[in-house]
Amino acid sequence: MDILLFGPPGAGKGTQAKLLTEELRAPQIATGDMMRAERQSGSELGKKFDEYMSAGKLVPDDLVIELIRKRLSQDDAKGGAIFDGFPRTVPQAEALDALLASMGRQIDRVIALDVPLSAIVERVVGRRVCLDCGQTYHVSYNPPPSDGVCVSCKGKNIVQRKDDTEEVVSTRFEQYEAMTQPVLAHYQARGIVKVIDGVGELEAVTARLREALGR
Ligand code: ADP
Ligand code: ADP
Ligand code: ZN
Repeated sequence: MDILLFGPPGAGKGTQAKLLTEELRAPQIATGDMMRAERQSGSELGKKFDEYMSAGKLVPDDLVIELIRKRLSQDDAKGGAIFDGFPRTVPQAEALDALLASMGRQIDRVIALDVPLSAIVERVVGRRVCLDCGQTYHVSYNPPPSDGVCVSCKGKNIVQRKDDTEEVVSTRFEQYEAMTQPVLAHYQARGIVKVIDGVGELEAVTARLREALGR
């Protein structure tokens, strides 16, 4: 099954995707996480990603599509995936459709998390992430352990992302409205979109997600 989690920055896509991977037996494919890993490696490609990410701008489509093409060729992604933070533009969605079609697959369901802008800013600014495994925390809603040790991987690299500031998030939200929102219409035309309320306890949102997936 191929599922796409859709929503503005900070909507809870990554948090929910991680909770679903076991149940759906499909990996989370998060282009933001993949780009941060590339940036950590210090490569030229990583530096290129950083130019855009630090400013809250979208990375150019050709670079993103190449990243996804490689990722989908890996064994763990052969039976389906949970896409998180991708596609973010209509050309990316078209490229994904073509890649999946060449593997005899298609996006089965798009779940859009509906979260108002006021909540988005609070979520993004309070977010903390584990650099080693991508586990997400929130200073108020899901505080990182006081000893700084990640609950998922036992690493000690829980940090605030440098693009998780009020200033950069406003650019990210503008990019979302201008470039990413049209992606929903692309899938709505196929009748596979379900919009769910993304506000409330983590578990409540997970329950809505399961219901939308018919589980
Ligand atoms: P996205 O992947 O959509 O950018 P994340 O999953 O990283 O979003 O969540 C953004 C922030 O909001 C994180 O700090 C996360 O812990 C927090 N968060 C996620 N879901 C909820 C929720 N239902 N209520 C409150 N905070 C949440
Ligand atoms: P969030 O969902 O919390 O906004 P992500 O981790 O998904 O954050 O993305 C962080 C940054 O990485 C984006 O602001 C953008 O610069 C870049 N990025 C991630 N995924 C894509 C994508 N599919 N297309 C273009 N840029 C991307
Ligand atoms: Zn970790």
